[in-house]
Order: sequence, then structure tokens, then C-alpha cells
Amino acid sequence: QRGYATDISKKGKVATFHGQKGSDGLYTVSLIEGDGIGPEISQSVKDIFAAAKAPIKWEPVDVTPQLRNGKTSIPEETIESIKRTKVALKGPLATPIGKGHVSLNLTLRRTFNLFANVRPCRSIAGYKTPYDNVDTVLIRENTEGEYSGIEHVVVDGVVQSIKLITKDASERVLRFAFQYAEDIGRLKVRAVHKATIMKMSDGLFLGTAKQVAKNYPHVEFDAELLDNTCLKIVTDPTPYNDKVLVMPNLYGDILSDMCAGLIGGLGLTPSGNIGDECSIFEAVHGSAPDIAGKALANPTALLLSSIMMLRHMGLNEHATRIETAIFDTLAEGKTLTGDLGGKAKTHEYAGAIISRL
Ligand code: NAD
Repeated sequence: QRGYATDISKKGKVATFHGQKGSDGLYTVSLIEGDGIGPEISQSVKDIFAAAKAPIKWEPVDVTPQLRNGKTSIPEETIESIKRTKVALKGPLATPIGKGHVSLNLTLRRTFNLFANVRPCRSIAGYKTPYDNVDTVLIRENTEGEYSGIEHVVVDGVVQSIKLITKDASERVLRFAFQYAEDIGRLKVRAVHKATIMKMSDGLFLGTAKQVAKNYPHVEFDAELLDNTCLKIVTDPTPYNDKVLVMPNLYGDILSDMCAGLIGGLGLTPSGNIGDECSIFEAVHGSAPDIAGKALANPTALLLSSIMMLRHMGLNEHATRIETAIFDTLAEGKTLTGDLGGKAKTHEYAGAIISRL
């Protein structure tokens, strides 16, 4: 599989990574270790990358939330670091429910305009799930829809929440999806929508998809209703193995977790948040406060996110080498973390991967 696409330039060409190799031959990557299990799983990535001699220098950054002009923000130095390195690896960040600061995950996506969220899910050999042949690639619009954050009380007991769909944001993520499909050689794009009910908002997304498709004559395009996709994908995921699915924000959030369930859960699923200027790679799961600090966490999802990151940076050989060691360790099944039915501690699992490099 070739490198992950990042940038949809006006010419329709994909630029992969615009970062610079330092005079020491290393690329600098901003590292957000995150909350809860974040530091433990980040340590596994650092240890494995060091053992694999991946040419990466980590620049740890702080994302303690701050209020700037009444809005949740992250420290200036962190913004400067990610803008300079153009790529970050991120552990999970806890979000307070109901009150408190705005989700830092949302803040990061907005700050760096990370408009496309790429979520691949592939069955892992040796880990038994109802299907052993899942290979889905889902691209989620990452900036608007139900996540636009526009909510207000109309009268007591009535709340209105706005689903915002714009042609610009739709076109941007759809062009990305088609370009990405070409880049990874999956020449079928399917838009997932609910335009039968949300005629105007999803209708705009779908109409834009049809227009964008005309610019990609080598890529087959079709569309499917979200409820249909859900039903069909859990009944038989095989027909989805040659497609790139693209959809508005909320649908992508939910459907990607469903795909994660098909391959054995959130501990195994990576993702990339892609923008024109920079990209942030992260596991799909959260900070798992219930197991934090106990060395029980499975670092696979963050590791696979770091593999996506390496491919995005064009470091394909390193990516494949580390990925093979991860998959071989999982397939052997002797050194697995608790969520996969094993007894290994986080660092023991990382050690097993290192021994295969
Ligand atoms: P969660 O993903 O943290 O945990 C759900 C369940 O999965 C828990 O039982 C947990 O122990 C388990 N789990 C998750 N990751 C695992 C791993 N790597 N290894 C083994 N088991 C794992 O979801 P949650 O409990 O709903 O959320 C906890 C916090 O994380 C919340 O504050 C939430 O807002 C935040 N969150 C952050 C992100 C992100 O940073 N992208 C994503 C989702 C949730």
C-alpha cells in the first residue's frame, strides 16, 4: 500500500508531506502524549521506533487548555511546533462531559483545519472476531455537521442543535477522498448519506459528491443510505473491502466505531486527521481512565496510527518493518494485552514487537 495522501492541491495532485529532514537526518514530529493511558502507550511507540531506528525525533508538546479571547485554545508554543513540524502523533485527551473546556480534540481539529479524518479498519490475523476479512477505509468530514457546536435553548425544555453542511467543506473532503482512493489504489468511492430525510443538508453533500466524481473518471462512484450501510456491513463486510467510504461528520464517527467493533475493538484502530498544512495521527480510542497507570493498555491503535504517520511522511520501509513486527506478534498470540485476552503488560507486548524487528 502506498503512502497516505494529505493535500488536495488545486491541480488535483497529492502532495504527501512537506516537512523537512534535519541536518542530523531526522524528521521532527510533535508528540502529544495525552491523558490516562496516553503516556504508557506513547512510551511503547517511542521504544519501538528507537529499536527500529526510525528517523524520527520527538518534540513533546503541552496541550493544557487555555482560554484565549473567551475560546478554548492550546499553548502558542504547541501551535508553533505543529505548524513547523507539520505532523504530530497524539495520545487520547480526556474531555469533561457537559461543562468545562471545549473538547481539545475538536480544538486541535479547528486550530489546524484538519478537515479529513481517515479511519482504516483491517482484520488482524490471529485475533478471532466474527469476520476475519474486514478491510474498510472510511473518511469522515471532520469540521462541521452536528459537530459545528451551534446549540441553543429555544424555550425552556426545547433545545436546538444546528447541523451545518457547507459546499466548501463537503467539496474539500470529497476531493480528498477521491484523491486518496487513487493514491492507495482503491478505485471505488461510496458516499454514505441520509439525503432521503435530510434533503437539504445531506442533499448538498451528495450533490457535491456527484459533481466532484466527474473530476475523477478513473474512480467509480456510488452512494448508499447510512442505515443500509450499517445493516450490510455487519451482515457481510466483504463488499466494502475495495471501497473508500466518505461521509458527513457524525455518521463517520459512529460508523467507524462499528467497523472497529468488527475487527476487535477500539484498542486496534488508528486514524489520521489530515489538513492542508499539517496532520495529526491518533488512536480512535479515548484515555481509558479505568486502566490508566496499570500497564494494561494496548498500544496497538497508537502504534498503527504512527505507521499511518510514517507512510504519510514517505517513510514506507520503516512503516512496513514495524507494521510486520506488530502483526506477527499479534498473530502469534503469545504476548497479548488483556483486552485481546492475553496477560501481557503494555511494555511486555512492546518488547515482543521489538524482538521481531
Ligand atoms: P475509552 O476509549 O477511553 O474507553 C472505553 C473502554 O475501552 C474502556 O473500558 C477502556 O479501558 C477500553 N480501552 C480503550 N482504549 C484501550 C486500549 N488502548 N487498551 C485497552 N483497553 C482500552 O472511552 P471513554 O471511557 O468513553 O472515554 C474516556 C475519555 O477519553 C473521555 O474523557 C473521552 O472524552 C476521551 N476520549 C478521547 C478521545 C481522543 O482523544 N481522540 C476519543 C474518545 C474519547
